[in-house]
Amino acid sequence: MKELIRKRILVTGGAGFLGSHLCERLVAQGHDVLCVDNFYTGTKRNVAHLLDHANFELMRHDVTFPLYVEVDEIYNLACPASPIHYQYDPVQTTKTSVHGAINMLGLAKRVRAKLLQASTSEVYGDARQHPQTEDYWGHVNPIGPRSCYDEGKRCAETLCMDYKRQHGLDIRIARIFNTYGPRMHPQDGRVVSNFVMQALTGEALTVYGDGSQTRCFCYVDDLIDGLIRLMNASTPPEAPVNLGNPHEISMLDTARRVIALSGSGSDIAFKPLPVDDPWHRCPSIERARTLLQWEPHTSLDVGLEATIAWFRRLIESTRERAAMAY
Ligand code: NAD
Ligand code: UDP
Ligand code: UDP
Repeated sequence: MKELIRKRILVTGGAGFLGSHLCERLVAQGHDVLCVDNFYTGTKRNVAHLLDHANFELMRHDVTFPLYVEVDEIYNLACPASPIHYQYDPVQTTKTSVHGAINMLGLAKRVRAKLLQASTSEVYGDARQHPQTEDYWGHVNPIGPRSCYDEGKRCAETLCMDYKRQHGLDIRIARIFNTYGPRMHPQDGRVVSNFVMQALTGEALTVYGDGSQTRCFCYVDDLIDGLIRLMNASTPPEAPVNLGNPHEISMLDTARRVIALSGSGSDIAFKPLPVDDPWHRCPSIERARTLLQWEPHTSLDVGLEATIAWFRRLIESTRERAAMAY
């Protein structure tokens, strides 16, 4: 059996949806985890079950300010990911992506830590290539409402590659495609959390446009496995790696799956399509398959069932708390 090398690992954005699952997995593997978050979209509740663990530490900090700690690895996840949240304060979104990346890269440079940057499929914008391979440069509006996120993440990738070339840092860039699962924020406006909440509360599911636009949904456990494999790859990939589930589905069919799996009587309501909403998005994951021996294993139905069960419990516990307070 391989002996565990216990590492000191910083997870920025560790109290968010993906970050909390990542912290949980790294703590379970026996590492010392420092979770840094300003609680903009994340919550202490997401990591409450880790607080008593001797290997886990939580620090309130905004990554746009310098951070001086001693670590071996950095997972840089800090950044709101849902369009509603990242567009609420777009200047802060760009600052988080760009100043946050500079600070985390400066930290990595000082302590010679490995850094994994959480990038996004949004760097491909409204893609003209389908599915998207990592060598596609994208089709991104630099001045629209999504640009603070898309261009911020593109600039963060540029910074990562320049710190790698200029300072010889060990950098890994994950281009994450739509990921869903337990601990998504119920009001974050992303499609899976919206549909599940609406189905469970008997509201109509809001499909934007005619619902024929497509996405590919990766279950959170698979994604976390991919992130850890990317960080641990003995030879760092020279360029970014797509992580996502290549199974493509339209938003209308997604709504129908959620209604069927939750046993809901909800209707579907069509609403206007948001500005610059990408039409299709689907990852080519050949690079991850070859370099990381990674591919997702959770089917959409299995992942949705687990997500629906989690949101059901969340709604019940909220009702119980409200009843007790009454
Ligand atoms: P999330 O909003 O749940 O988590 C982001 C976390 O970062 C939150 O806990 C938030 O409080 C924290 N944060 C935001 N600004 C910060 C700052 N300035 N300083 C410190 N902490 C800050 O989103 P998520 O879905 O968990 O996404 C995590 C990362 O993965 C993000 O970088 C996102 O861009 C990337 N990503 C996610 C998806 C997805 O589908 N979930 C897809 C592509 C990329
Ligand atoms: N930085 C940090 N922690 C560290 C080292 C650096 O937060 O341990 C920040 C610091 O604010 C700095 C930035 O990272 O401005 C970039 O560091 P770098 O050494 O690349 O450049 P500098 O601006 O110091 O010349
Ligand atoms: N969407 C939808 N109904 C919703 C929320 C989103 O039809 O209630 C659509 C949205 O227009 C987009 C897709 O679902 O085409 C995915 O949206 P999300 O905000 O989850 O992520 P994106 O991939 O756009 O960043």
